[in-house]
Amino acid sequence: MNDLEGGCLCGKVRYTSSSKPLTTVACHCTDCRKQSGTAFSIIIGISSDSLTISGDSLRSFDDIGSSGKPIHRFFCNACGSPLYSQVEAAPDVVFLKAGSLDNTDWVEVTAEIWCDSKVSWSQLEIGLKQFPRSPRE
Ligand SMILES: [Zn+2]
Ligand SMILES: [Zn+2]
Repeated sequence: MNDLEGGCLCGKVRYTSSSKPLTTVACHCTDCRKQSGTAFSIIIGISSDSLTISGDSLRSFDDIGSSGKPIHRFFCNACGSPLYSQVEAAPDVVFLKAGSLDNTDWVEVTAEIWCDSKVSWSQLEIGLKQFPRSPRE
């Protein structure tokens, strides 16, 4: 099985990618918190042209990132699962929601981003690289 294969809770949207995982981070930004419904979002950067989607219930909500450019947050319109985000400020990369993968055993978080907006009631293991905001800023 391909590591980068997954889908939403109801199964109507499926995806696969031929990319290698480029980065795996926990994002503490307030928008990821709202969208995920929990303390942070674990996201895996992959090359955007490697992603293949199937299913017709994929929708996106257009958020605005700190760059002022849109972030398209894709989710399944039937079950509400968040699946991935496309950041217009970084068009070569797409950020998969790690929890939507079929197999998550291999996932290893290497850094935390947007630590400036981290909640106090949820901690990850100590020693991860920490960025106050986006690593690009
Ligand atoms: Zn679904
Ligand atoms: Zn975020």
